[in-house]
Amino acid sequence: MRRFARSTALGLVLAASTLVACVKVPVTGRRQANLIPDALMRQLGASTYQSTLADEQVAKGTENAKVINSVGKKIAKSADQPKFDWQFKLLQASDTINAWCLPGGKIAVYTGLLPVVESEAGLAFVMGHEVGHATAHHGAERLSQQLAVLGGMGALYLYLDNKTEMSPEQIAIISAAAGAGAEVGYVLPFSRLHEKEADVIGMMYMAKAGYPPKEAPLVWDRMEAATGGGNVSILSTHPTNKDRKKNLNEWMPQATKRYKRNKDKVKGDSTTKLWSASQF
Ligand SMILES: [Zn+2]
Repeated sequence: MRRFARSTALGLVLAASTLVACVKVPVTGRRQANLIPDALMRQLGASTYQSTLADEQVAKGTENAKVINSVGKKIAKSADQPKFDWQFKLLQASDTINAWCLPGGKIAVYTGLLPVVESEAGLAFVMGHEVGHATAHHGAERLSQQLAVLGGMGALYLYLDNKTEMSPEQIAIISAAAGAGAEVGYVLPFSRLHEKEADVIGMMYMAKAGYPPKEAPLVWDRMEAATGGGNVSILSTHPTNKDRKKNLNEWMPQATKRYKRNKDKVKGDSTTKLWSASQF
């Protein structure tokens, strides 16, 4: 079984490497090198999502869980990825100020993040940011880079031959790249470039869904205030708040235009404060 899975993965990786894989990132148009097939990444995302949710307390049928789902679906519509099987879950952990997205559109938001996003519009930005990581294939790009660092295809062959001279870390990275690992999907931190790119994509997605993009930089202000500016997983290795705001403001005119065309999609004032720290 294991042998079969490995040879299938090898086939996929070889097929991809012969094609290589210079892909355009949505919104920013940056070209990225990517040698991991998208189908493999989606498979990895789905299995990691399942195993991660098994260890978390998933909110079911609550008012907040419904808001997560409805805002998530609107953002997914902006993202327009027919091959993604979108899922949006709220996880009960009031001391965790975080959200994440796995390849293929598997998103989780912790209740601890709600007082920071404050409103539906704030939530739309954070979800747009997470969705942006997925649609820009940041996970696959990162794994492609890891493979390159490890000697690329040579390292992959060592792994497939079951050679033992590789370090556990090398094996973990390769196995994730080949779709056989489970945990690496979101454990490796994103780079600053990926963070800033996800911000821009997120802000454009929120605007297209009818949410005001001026809320985007305000979310990072509140995040900085809530976390003391660091030492929380969503912020570690991330650009500084000043850097993020400069980047967002460069794209603000474009996002505002898009928002004006789409603002009727959202009924009422989406910036109304829905969540505060005292509720949790
Ligand atoms: Zn991010």
